Amino acid sequence: MLTKVIDQAPIDHFTKWFNRAEKIVIVSHTSPDGDAIGSSLGLWHFFNSQEKVANVIVPNAFPDFLRWMPGSKDILCYDRYAEFADKLLQEADVICCADFNSLKRIDRMAAAVEASPARKILIDHHPYPEDFCRIVISHPEISSTSELVFRLICRMGYFNEITRQGAACIYTGMMTDTGSFTFNSNNPEIYYIISQLLSKGIDKDEIYRKVYNTYSESRFRLMGYVLTQMKVYPERHAALITLTGEEQKRFSYIRGDSEGFVNMPLSIRNMRLSCFLREDTERPMIKVSLRSTGKFPCNQLAAEFFNGGGHLNASGGEFSGTMEEAIRVYEKAIEKFAPLLK
Ligand code: 5GP
Ligand code: MN
Repeated sequence: MLTKVIDQAPIDHFTKWFNRAEKIVIVSHTSPDGDAIGSSLGLWHFFNSQEKVANVIVPNAFPDFLRWMPGSKDILCYDRYAEFADKLLQEADVICCADFNSLKRIDRMAAAVEASPARKILIDHHPYPEDFCRIVISHPEISSTSELVFRLICRMGYFNEITRQGAACIYTGMMTDTGSFTFNSNNPEIYYIISQLLSKGIDKDEIYRKVYNTYSESRFRLMGYVLTQMKVYPERHAALITLTGEEQKRFSYIRGDSEGFVNMPLSIRNMRLSCFLREDTERPMIKVSLRSTGKFPCNQLAAEFFNGGGHLNASGGEFSGTMEEAIRVYEKAIEKFAPLLK
């Protein structure tokens, strides 16, 4: 049995909306990851099972290693179909905001979501949700939004309606947001939920292979290259990996090729903090990804130095300036946070 986690009031409130709704739009954050797509499609499969007209819209493309996910071909990318997406958002009865806590995280889509007369519900696990939804289901103690989606569907009384396809999407989000259950994953209920998802017929071993063992040769070589270029700051138990636009060209980089790279330096013994700086080739800025182990608050570092935020152990931000400048800022940051990096 699962503990309740989500309060009864938002469940009842959403159930009312749900029963009346015909058209439901699910939106998730920019550069969608496994949990963004997993939670969105988990909801989408459920809504479809109840004969709702449901659509998933994300601000931009998602990585290739998520394209096998059932329903992913029906996801609309706002950067390609803004006009159609605007119409869907405007005509929706309900908008579900999944896996983000601030309108800023959906970029150019924010205006259309904000302007829509639809009822809005937030389902998310990032700390400090902003106030843009009537119903807020926000649980930072839960390791993935996909897990929250499972809990929500069950609490609404629809466990039996979860299909194998929906279960696969939910499992994928739970798996990717916990590094295949290697962080944020000590809650025993996670494994109860996995057993319930397995009872729907998913093949979790195959899902792992489809998500993680799909490197192209160039992506694999890029990984090796990035690692040989890695900088380590032994006194700070910190590491830095970088990727410039020029290097991206050299390795025929496509979006998503560096997904997960930021985690790799944490495989070094006693490493506490890892940072990945990647030049964005579409906008003149540097994307910052941070990962930490234990109690080191990389979200604080992201907020203070890189205009970002996120979770205690996984956060990110942006930097406008050159790669060299961004490296200096990171080095300044780890000096400032030195007492926490012992
Ligand atoms: P990633 O490193 O995978 O891009 O992001 C890890 C986590 O950091 C995300 O789940 C999100 O919570 C947070 N994050 C990433 N980029 C940003 C950003 O630019 N701003 C904020 N506030 N959070 C971010
Ligand atoms: Mn998530």
